[in-house]
Amino acid sequence: MQRILLSVPHMSGREQRYVAEAFASNWLSTVGPNLDAFERDFEARFGLPAVAVSSGTAAIHLGLRALGVSSGDAVFCSDLTFVASVNPVRYLGAEPVLIDSEPRTWNMDPRLLAAALAEHAARGRLPKAVIVVHLFGQSADMDPILEACAQYGVPVLEDAAEALGAVYKGRPAGTLGDAAVFSFNGNKIITTSGGGMLVSRRPEIAAKARFWATQARDPGLAYEHSELGYNYRLSNVLAGIGRAQFEVLDERVAQRRAVAFAYHAAFADLPGISPMPQAPWGLHTNWLSCFLIDEAAFGSSRDGLIRWLAETGIESRPVWKPMHLQPLYESSPCYGGAISEDLFRRGICLPSSSSLTASEQASVIQQVRKKTISGQLSALGHRLFAQPAATVAEPQPAAQS
Ligand SMILES: *Cc1c(COP(=O)(O)O)cnc(C)c1O
Repeated sequence: MQRILLSVPHMSGREQRYVAEAFASNWLSTVGPNLDAFERDFEARFGLPAVAVSSGTAAIHLGLRALGVSSGDAVFCSDLTFVASVNPVRYLGAEPVLIDSEPRTWNMDPRLLAAALAEHAARGRLPKAVIVVHLFGQSADMDPILEACAQYGVPVLEDAAEALGAVYKGRPAGTLGDAAVFSFNGNKIITTSGGGMLVSRRPEIAAKARFWATQARDPGLAYEHSELGYNYRLSNVLAGIGRAQFEVLDERVAQRRAVAFAYHAAFADLPGISPMPQAPWGLHTNWLSCFLIDEAAFGSSRDGLIRWLAETGIESRPVWKPMHLQPLYESSPCYGGAISEDLFRRGICLPSSSSLTASEQASVIQQVRKKTISGQLSALGHRLFAQPAATVAEPQPAAQS
């Protein structure tokens, strides 16, 4: 049986042409035409300077440092996210302060953020930055978030790793804060096998990030270094994959959304399974199709459903485990936490690849339906009523002896 995976790379078919160009011209390292063109593609789409790096995590690290985060600082972060959003805070010796989600978007709660900022301002300990995640490809409610941060002069880094192609009130996610990062990991909307991009409305941030990403080598002939750098640049070979992937970005987003809406329609009549809300203000990439399971109504726990699907070769997984529940971050200050905890305990991500075929999706839908109370009842109904003749014809063990 062919397994149905959660989220797989989906090539356009033109990747190898750009990769072949890299080979033909021998630009196989972290300099070259694909890299330049890939960055120009982003600059053209978003209207912001862009720096291609080896991962989304590296982009967050560079972005935070460029926003001035250093040892001992506080950085506010979304509690419900993948750990890579928060780890770079620790790379810089700073401490994350976690902010819970709001149920209507699953993203950082703007009111909790405002309260946390007010409290920290009163203590004279404002955060150096706020990292806002656009979870599963849906933009956070950025207007009140940006307003609260502007009130205290705190810069905002958007973690748009899952939200390339998302829109908030007519503006692309990733162009709303001071800087933003995208990820091209293998399971994201488009991929370079691994890679990331930092964009920023502040050209000096992009320039600093580019400098640090290439070992912070000072101008001049000698290898002289006055600042600490990293080896974070994306390879020109992988940028070739990225160029071809970026050409089909809107198609990939449309395909992911079609997958999500097909699930929504197929589960609309089922009790105990409800989709992640779609906020009215923009375009959700639906990077992953997520649902909440109400165990009593559905007839199975979330984990029961994940195991059930796994038995039939279907990969699914829980919604991200919140940072305040991670051994790594359980001692970090956290505002709220009950919402993200509930989303984690009940949330499931179903196969969401843009390449998911109709028949693959039909099997996922069929298996989910079978696991519900109504699914179990109809299966029971079949056993009780569909084959009464066979049951009656069976000789009774007592009669045989
Ligand atoms: C994938 C992801 C990252 C990290 O990106 P990499 O390219 O894998 O380093 C960061 N934040 C979020 C929310 C992600 O989903």
